[in-house]
Amino acid sequence: MGFLNQIKESFLEFLFPQGLACPACGDELAEGLLCPNCQSGIAPIGKPCTRCGRNMLGGGGYCSGCKGRIPHFDGCLSACEYDGAAKALLGRLKNGHRYAAEAIAALMLDALKGSAFEFDVVTCVPITPRVKRLRGYNQSLLLAQIIAQSLGKELDGESLIKARDTAFQKDLPASQRQSNIGGAFKLAKRGAFEGRRVLLVDDVMTTGSTLSECAKTLKKGGAQKVFCLTFASVGESVKLD
Ligand SMILES: [Zn+2]
Ligand SMILES: [Zn+2]
Repeated sequence: MGFLNQIKESFLEFLFPQGLACPACGDELAEGLLCPNCQSGIAPIGKPCTRCGRNMLGGGGYCSGCKGRIPHFDGCLSACEYDGAAKALLGRLKNGHRYAAEAIAALMLDALKGSAFEFDVVTCVPITPRVKRLRGYNQSLLLAQIIAQSLGKELDGESLIKARDTAFQKDLPASQRQSNIGGAFKLAKRGAFEGRRVLLVDDVMTTGSTLSECAKTLKKGGAQKVFCLTFASVGESVKLD
């Protein structure tokens, strides 16, 4: 191995000390990407809503959130429910543990295998420059990077931008969520998604309105299809209002 490659390897190991600790609970990790406890604590979506993919309380059709709306995306899929180990994993990913992205992206890729989504380019829900300065990175971009690279697809993590800060959707009553997020996203490069089928990646779906608003912006810019993939989604059993 050349000297530069050695430096690169040790730098990567410093950034992603995988193989040492479970990225969800911090326990020692003998093998795999998650410890057995956390692996079994990730709850797959048993009864997905046919519009937004969240886990439904009842059977068949749409969740309560989707009954009165048609989102701008063409499909939405989550790897698991936002609960237990999934919540812990995402908490760590947002708080400086970048290496958690690998285990999360692996679970997202697994979920994607069973879907009918066809796309040419991968993008992600953007954050504002202010949030990027605070957090240091966009966790959804980390996930989109790994997913695009694993699938050999193009990544465009720059053309869709967030033009203004918004309140956390989950902290707002349903009546204010649309005005909070409406018009928050823009395209930095006009024709970037023209005629393209897009996979839009995010870490967690709460109500689906952020994803829908991003999809609206992408479609305004000429995107042919927008499919959403998130690691986790908040199930219908969780009351947000
Ligand atoms: Zn664990
Ligand atoms: Zn739904």
